[in-house]
Amino acid sequence: MFVNDCLNVNEKGHLTIGGCDTLELAKEFGTPLYVMDEDTIRNTCKSYVNSIKTHYDGKGLPMYASKALSCKALVQLADSENMGLDVVSGGEIYTAMKANFPPEKIQFHGNNKTEAELRMALDYNIGKIIVDNLYELELLNKIANEKNKVVKISMRIKPGIDAHTHNFIMTGQIDSKFGFALETGEAMAAVKESLKLSNVDLTELHCHIGSQIFDIDPFVKAAEVMMDFIGQIKRETGHLVTELNLGGGYGIKYTENDNPVPYDNYMAAVSKAVKAKAAENDIPVPFIYMEPGRSVVGEAGITLYTVGGRKEIPNIRTYVSVDGGMTDNIRYALYESEYTVVNAGKADQEPNEKVTVAGKCCESGDLIQKDAPVADVQVGDTLAVLSTGAYNYSMASNYNRNPRPAIVMVKDGKARLIVKRESYDDLVANDLDL
Ligand SMILES: *Cc1c(COP(=O)(O)O)cnc(C)c1O
Repeated sequence: MFVNDCLNVNEKGHLTIGGCDTLELAKEFGTPLYVMDEDTIRNTCKSYVNSIKTHYDGKGLPMYASKALSCKALVQLADSENMGLDVVSGGEIYTAMKANFPPEKIQFHGNNKTEAELRMALDYNIGKIIVDNLYELELLNKIANEKNKVVKISMRIKPGIDAHTHNFIMTGQIDSKFGFALETGEAMAAVKESLKLSNVDLTELHCHIGSQIFDIDPFVKAAEVMMDFIGQIKRETGHLVTELNLGGGYGIKYTENDNPVPYDNYMAAVSKAVKAKAAENDIPVPFIYMEPGRSVVGEAGITLYTVGGRKEIPNIRTYVSVDGGMTDNIRYALYESEYTVVNAGKADQEPNEKVTVAGKCCESGDLIQKDAPVADVQVGDTLAVLSTGAYNYSMASNYNRNPRPAIVMVKDGKARLIVKRESYDDLVANDLDL
């Protein structure tokens, strides 16, 4: 009935998630409220782990890209499902450490890790640093040398495949702020440079070709390009890279128009391509990593809002204003992202009108969705915006001094807080008097 499996409708006609009535959740925890379905997240993690078992003899590790939603409970959940973890900042490392995540299963990304962040990563013995540029390579080697360590590194490669849209193109990818380009020879030069340095150990290569991708082909193509490069490195330098990280980017359902491929199908196709390329290049089959973020938490989450006002502009559109907005979901303002909106108290009714859901911020672009079909919206209704589990809380802000919402996790009809709602005192906690 809904785009997300964890949603249902109860006998009152109310939307439910994880067996909890969303109107009750709104009453108990207040709005705006993020709600995450635990079983959906766990099942997705399991399907990644199992796909590697089924198609790749278990010789791989899916890592949760925590930038999609980083908080202690999520990191702990990923750990309990035997996932690794991707981090992109000192703050995400700190969150993982506070959640007791095993540091050896963490990889640290970013195109401009600060010296302080690199030192922190080494002090916590983070498993691998994904090196983005030559400056970082030299700096990391210097810090590791000072600390008397040899750090395992990966290198971010631009494989020349751009898959940010429904199709993919094989050019244009040189123009990206991330990583080393293959076709210019930049990547090979960086590999050779790293082999001269004594405090870094290049064991892995990494690529990440985009996000919200629905095709298998670009993933297969990227895997092939990367395997050929590993073969070329072996032939030119004698050095064998034993691990291949294929990044994330698996698409999810925001609306009925989205058709994600089952994760198992990606793995089946990619495994086949990697094995074939290993044979062709006469190199061993590498250990592989994948880095799903959006697909682990996106469909598991919804946001609940309370409708405050309704403004009908004749022959133009109807605005309904909610008690959140770009502060808790900036994706429409950033990318005009599509979402499904449900009137949570009338979830058994077909949409009979189109409304534009506006936030409460002082900014005309502060919209959640334009002209969304919903059932008869009145002041005081609870609206649910679906598939908000990824890149919503993690991109949230305090614009207009709005406190960030709470996150509750639901399972088997029970709800518990995993992130508290910010208070006004939290907002002024770092302010100092004149
Ligand atoms: C953002 C990102 C991911 C996760 O991407 P999703 O689209 O959320 O799956 C994985 N790896 C890297 C390097 C990223 O930057």
